[in-house]
Amino acid sequence: MAYEIATIPGDGIGPEVVDAALPLFEDAADAAGFSFETERFDWGSERYVEEGAMMPDDGLDRLESSDSILLGAVGHPEVPDHVTLHGLLLPIRKGFDQGICKRPSVLFDGIESPLRGYEGGDIDFVVYRENTEGEYADVGGREHLGFDNDVAVQSGVFTRDATERIVRAAFDAATEREGKVTSITKSNAQAHSMVFWDDIVEEIGDEYPGVEVERLLVDAASMDFIRRPEQFDVVVASNLFGDILTDIGAIVTGSMGLAPSANINPEGEYPSMFEPVHGSAPDIVGQGVANPLATVLSGSMLFEHLGEQAAADAVWDAVTEQVADPDAPRTPDLGGEAATEDVVADLRDRLSV
Ligand code: ATP
Ligand code: MG
Repeated sequence: MAYEIATIPGDGIGPEVVDAALPLFEDAADAAGFSFETERFDWGSERYVEEGAMMPDDGLDRLESSDSILLGAVGHPEVPDHVTLHGLLLPIRKGFDQGICKRPSVLFDGIESPLRGYEGGDIDFVVYRENTEGEYADVGGREHLGFDNDVAVQSGVFTRDATERIVRAAFDAATEREGKVTSITKSNAQAHSMVFWDDIVEEIGDEYPGVEVERLLVDAASMDFIRRPEQFDVVVASNLFGDILTDIGAIVTGSMGLAPSANINPEGEYPSMFEPVHGSAPDIVGQGVANPLATVLSGSMLFEHLGEQAAADAVWDAVTEQVADPDAPRTPDLGGEAATEDVVADLRDRLSV
């Protein structure tokens, strides 16, 4: 079986981590008895600066035939963040109906959490973030509803379909993990969308009588992600809240450089996209020291999504083994001095399928 994987290395450290990780993915595929071809799309902020668009008009058409997309990072000090987000990431997530963003937060053995008293294995939860609408829906503006330039309106859109889909994905995950679901809202302040969300959680929850449900307001959840992260299992949240909470989830498990994510089109009608949670990290770009592990783990999630579980496990296990080994190379974000390339070379030695 040969897959087509589209790569969008993007900006900043994106190309550094994607280019470094690909040979490891090829090894894993080889060993597991399949192959893939990559097609590289050099889209991102540089293209925006030169041509006024992050990607071409027919960008989605060109990606559509691929089995999966691997993305590095987008972001550029001279391009406003809302341009990079709305010019590439959001159109892909929305255009390919990638309604489910899955972001695991795992504190590996051998990794130091900034939280006192936490050791490897203590933190292991996954956030299911709604990925196509909510607070990121492109509704509003300064002229919206006839307001003048002194008022800007930003509305959220929560549809039953998208909300049910993310909530159901969370309950399915909790069933598989034999764990619980924590639903995050701000229902006290946002009395329309978030109450609607609560109602849907209750309805879907009734279909899963074996799964415990916990509800938290996002302010309390932000505190509890730091105060008691070990008590979370599957967390389900809207687009904005999920975005914020997963940065906390990434840092309490050691480094932004370790956090992977998947943007999944659950029906498989369109390609899903896999990317590290971190951004373009302009402060370390070009130094060759970006941590590739978030991208490597995203590749593991990509293989899992393709149904290539052996390769997915091999990649994930190589990372687990490496970070647990005090003598293994580590990038500076994990307290070491190793280069991106050294970390991948060591992983390739450890790979066993
Ligand atoms: P962007 O605008 O693209 O989101 P950012 O600066 O807002 O960029 P990140 O790129 O996520 O956010 O960087 C946040 C911090 O984490 C920076 O100090 C960066 O160096 C660090 N960081 C992010 N990714 C990595 C990585 N892969 N390896 C090492 N450090 C990283
Ligand atoms: Mg950022």
